[in-house]
Amino acid sequence: MRSVCAYCGVGCGVRVEQEAGQWRLAGDEAHPANRGALCIKGSSLIESLAFPERLLYPRWQGERLTWEGALDRLAGELARIIGESGPQSVALYLSGQLTTEDYYVANKLMKGFIGSPHVDTNSRLCMSSAVVAHQRAFGEDLVPACYEDLELADLVVLTGANTAWTHPVLFRRLQQARERRPGMKLVVIDPRQTMTASQGDLHLPLRPGSDVALWNGLCRYLLEQGLWDKAYVARHVAEFDGLAAELDRPCWHPEAVAAACDLPLCDLLGFYRLFGANPRTVTLFCQGINQSERGVDQAGCIINAHLLTGRIGKPGAAPFSMTGQPNAMGGREVGGLATQLAAHMGFDEESRDRLARFWGAPRLVSGPGHKAVALFEALHKGEIRALWVLGTNPAVSLPDSLRVREALARCELLVVSDVTADTDTARLAHLLLPAAAWGEKGGTVTNSERTISRQRAFLPPPGEARPDWWALTQLARRLGFAEAFPYEHEQQIFCEHAALSGFENDGARQFDISALAHLSREQYEALTPLRWPVNAAHPDGCDRLFADGRFATADGRARLVVAAPPAAPLQVAPGEGLPLLLNSGRLRDQWHTMTRTGHVARLQESEPWPTLRLGPASLLALGAEPGALLHLRSAQGEAHALAARDEGLREGEAFLPMHWSESYAAGSGVNRLLAPRVDPLSGQPAFKQEAVRVSLR
Ligand code: SF4
Repeated sequence: MRSVCAYCGVGCGVRVEQEAGQWRLAGDEAHPANRGALCIKGSSLIESLAFPERLLYPRWQGERLTWEGALDRLAGELARIIGESGPQSVALYLSGQLTTEDYYVANKLMKGFIGSPHVDTNSRLCMSSAVVAHQRAFGEDLVPACYEDLELADLVVLTGANTAWTHPVLFRRLQQARERRPGMKLVVIDPRQTMTASQGDLHLPLRPGSDVALWNGLCRYLLEQGLWDKAYVARHVAEFDGLAAELDRPCWHPEAVAAACDLPLCDLLGFYRLFGANPRTVTLFCQGINQSERGVDQAGCIINAHLLTGRIGKPGAAPFSMTGQPNAMGGREVGGLATQLAAHMGFDEESRDRLARFWGAPRLVSGPGHKAVALFEALHKGEIRALWVLGTNPAVSLPDSLRVREALARCELLVVSDVTADTDTARLAHLLLPAAAWGEKGGTVTNSERTISRQRAFLPPPGEARPDWWALTQLARRLGFAEAFPYEHEQQIFCEHAALSGFENDGARQFDISALAHLSREQYEALTPLRWPVNAAHPDGCDRLFADGRFATADGRARLVVAAPPAAPLQVAPGEGLPLLLNSGRLRDQWHTMTRTGHVARLQESEPWPTLRLGPASLLALGAEPGALLHLRSAQGEAHALAARDEGLREGEAFLPMHWSESYAAGSGVNRLLAPRVDPLSGQPAFKQEAVRVSLR
């Protein structure tokens, strides 16, 4: 049986077989993402299914209910709240763990039939800045490249991405390409000397938050040195004059940029020369770029450099946003973000009218809903009275997590669908609904290179666990929308989603998988991985977008964006009382809030406790030995962690992994310390910078 890994945005294919009564899992050699390779997390997927407290039956405040009883009660409570306070008083919070089919039904129900725009997803936390940057530059949320481009490039730039740990199989592909072609260069831009940075030909440990300066400085250098593609820009790119005028300012001169980034001028110019000299350049960016108050601008400046040089839509040349989760991209396709409608449509009148007619939707929403951080603030204020959380753990994963927890505890009706009752969010729920886990349900997911893959069930769901799309469908029927929710199998949902992508789409929207709209059940079951678009022009999928220089804007030209220096410092600056700058991020062997990995023994081996990494001088100043218990304080809150020495950190900076919570170590959790600061355009939280004080406990 072929399926897909449940963990990261690489989207590796797996093969699952039974041998002597035991399930065995291996990488799928036929899958284009991984060609048979798996990392330690992927290879431990079967072990992860032994959840310590599997949720087997619906429960209302601890009491077991039948599904009938639970859904009747949920429908009744929602109808009452909507009747009293209107549809905007109810919300959904979704997850990149859901299948595209789950996501599709959730969005259709809320945005088309209940009439609430407040549907957001934990994907807001990982790549929503890249989404907005794509929309600004390309006219639509489109990832131009495929993984093969990383192997074809002569220069790969990894920025804000510890790929060796967070997307290990993709990094292994890159390493193998470098072994085959030793002339290929790797530049890593990251404040920390990570495992990834240690493999680079050049590491730029820039000052956190100085990415706009670095990339604007590069664009100025390319213009000054005549290293840009004038013909490409003239034909395919707009807004050049505005960018050129901005880049004329002295603050983007190399000396000024080197000072702003706290980098040696020779290293900065070394990077600029490498970029200028290599037409086959891929710049891969991830959370270090996106999770910032300037995430959209930072991603936009990277895209600018590629547009100026025409390095997009060609083999081995592209800006490339990696997603964190297995189906962050699928969620984007169906409107999982509060700021989009399904099939990459926006809230303009024409799109709304088209979608309302396609769905037969009586209450299509008129505009965007709350983005994640704002959604939980609305919950705290009581403006949202009912929330259904599916497949995620916001009590831990959002910034200012203690306030989020408070908001969840205050909620009049909190429904949680999950595979386990043992999460910080599930413990606060009024109604717990048992979800089918990975391996127990079918559907599709889309990885970072636009490849749609089938996730397949090889186990029966235990107890009364059911797929999320099924629970959402049953609720829709109880709310009076049976005709529009006839689904008995995920294939029907997928085909409707595919048909919508091609509905009245004359090519204006490049997300188009209409060639898959008429798959039979057998064809759906046998579906092999395909990179979208999959339509009449690309019946077998498409490796690269924009190969013809046409973008998804009204005039077909991409847009350069102007990112000026901020009028006031946006990033948190360490100061008196809070002298250290704290960074947060992922470990190689853990996943999200550990709900899937925390009980897998071999994933616990490398780092069993939350550990604050500090430079030697910071440790010395504290008088702390590695392993000492530390107390961290920020303006927002407090947390505990063990001390560790890390010589790859800039002095005055510290790093704390994002995974731990109360459930795994008392008083731990980086999000207790982080203020809910967000990018104003994307709403993505700035998880990467917080001023803290550390003391011995
Ligand atoms: Fe799974 Fe990502 Fe590892 Fe691939 S790289 S096996 S998708 S966790």
